[in-house]
Amino acid sequence: MIDAERQKVLKIRSTGTVPSEVVREVLSILDVEESMLDISTTDHDADAPRVRRIPTGRSCDHLDTAGHAPVATAEDGLVCEQCIELGSHWVSLRRCPACGNVACCDSSPHKHATEHFHDSAHPVMQSAQPGEDWRWCFVHHLTG
Ligand SMILES: [Zn+2]
Ligand SMILES: [Zn+2]
Ligand SMILES: [Zn+2]
Repeated sequence: MIDAERQKVLKIRSTGTVPSEVVREVLSILDVEESMLDISTTDHDADAPRVRRIPTGRSCDHLDTAGHAPVATAEDGLVCEQCIELGSHWVSLRRCPACGNVACCDSSPHKHATEHFHDSAHPVMQSAQPGEDWRWCFVHHLTG
């Protein structure tokens, strides 16, 4: 359902009749809707529930020591460089507080943030969506 809507939006975008800002906004709304579904249907997805902040009441050494990357703003113009190299697209962006690597989320075709975790063993990623500052521990599957 949401995938179908997203496909529709991407199709509209490819025709170039709608400003890309509008398309991006619609896609981000769909992303939020999808995250609601994620929360209710899975709790083991390596990609954290995509909402602003989920207070779990639990933490882990990774979240306690990882620190925070700066909260992204729209002006930052962050991109998934690996996706750009591949000529691909992404859904949402994540930033590694340990090294600042920006990569795409698990709803994106290439899941570069998870790939970064496997390559670097940096255990925590933070949302790089504008205004969001929740983080996710890949090891313990905790948000904080
Ligand atoms: Zn952890
Ligand atoms: Zn990517
Ligand atoms: Zn890193």
